[in-house]
This record gives sequence, C-alpha cells and structure tokens, in this order.
Amino acid sequence: MRVLLVEDERAIAKDVESALSATGYVVDIAGDGEEGWFRASTEDYDAVILDLGLPKLDGLSIVRRLREEASMVPILVLTARGSWLQRVEGIDAGADDYLTKPFEMEELLARLAALLRRVGRHVTPLIEVGPLRIDTRSLRVMINGRAIELSPLEFRLLRYLAHNRNRVVPQSELVEHVYGTDEPESNAVEALVARLRRKIGSDTIGTRRGHGYIMEAPSS
Ligand code: CA
Repeated sequence: MRVLLVEDERAIAKDVESALSATGYVVDIAGDGEEGWFRASTEDYDAVILDLGLPKLDGLSIVRRLREEASMVPILVLTARGSWLQRVEGIDAGADDYLTKPFEMEELLARLAALLRRVGRHVTPLIEVGPLRIDTRSLRVMINGRAIELSPLEFRLLRYLAHNRNRVVPQSELVEHVYGTDEPESNAVEALVARLRRKIGSDTIGTRRGHGYIMEAPSS
C-alpha cells in the first residue's frame, strides 16, 4: 500500500510516517500543497492523508482539484481542532473521512484501514515477488519457504523495492525511504544492496547503472 502524506509540520509528518511504515505502508511525504497536489495527481497512491492548512496551496483546493480530475483516490483529511466548518467543507469537496488534530496514531491507522476497506483495497501484510515472501507485519522474510535473517535496514530496502517492483528506483529515493532523516555515508546504499543480495540471491535485485535498482517480478 502506497500512501501520500501531505503535511507541512515536520514533527507530525515524521510521526505519521514512522507509524505507517511500521504497519507496512510505503509512505511519500509532501511538505507543501503544490508538491502534494502534483504528486497526488501524477502518481498512483492507494490513499492520501491530507492536512488542510498548507503553504502554497491549501488542502481543500487539492481535494477539489483531484475530484474535478475524476481522481478516485481515497482521501483522509486532517483538520484543526474545533473547526466544524473545515470538516464540512472537506467532506463537501470530496474527502472520504476526516480526523481532528491532535489525534492518536492508533486512530489514524484504524481510520485509514477502514477507508481502504470501504474502497475495496485491503491492507495485505504479505508481499510476494517470485520466490520471496515478505511479511510486513511480523517482519519475516522467506525465500522458497526458507526463513532469512535481515537487519532492519536490509528489511526496509527489500520491502521498498518489493512494493515498487518492476520500477527502477533511483538511489536518492532509496536513501530517503530506507534511511529517513539519517543521512547515510556515500555508497551506503550500494553496500546495503550488496549485503542483501548475498542473503537473498544476486539476481533478485537488478542494477540499472546511473539510474538505480529494480526488483523484477517474474510474470506468472
Ligand atoms: Ca498545517
């Protein structure tokens, strides 16, 4: 499940991102309305979590624009406390649900899962790519039925590539998603890929020199 989080408050964005990642979602963060609108309208997300008060372009306008474009992506809006008008406007504009700030992370996860269920997108904790089976809930990886021990970084790399299978993922994107805010040393990704290949087989992750890495799912 790929989720776009549009939130300009970095602390909230980081908290939500960690909670979603820990639950097995792949999360992209947009820090202002324009970037949020651009990503939501050009990329394929299973859901968008959208703060309404945003710099450059407000959340309500994003909801309206997406719905005008006939985008069906489920949208959960985050509204300020006590602002019933924002909630009404958000739903009127085409948002599917809302959550009032501040919120408990458990509630956000429950609302998001309910929203995805309503639109028929189920949160599956299992990702399968060829002989690989990645359980994003128990954090276990099996290859041809054999359990593999991975470090947390190796697991995050594998999960991200598997979620984005059949797409070349640039190294910069991997740095962002695997390391988060901790800037790694140069060549860290290369070294991590090499370690992962030793554990899961060298042909599982392809290199596109100058572009990035790809995990190709064998067509069944
Ligand atoms: Ca805000």
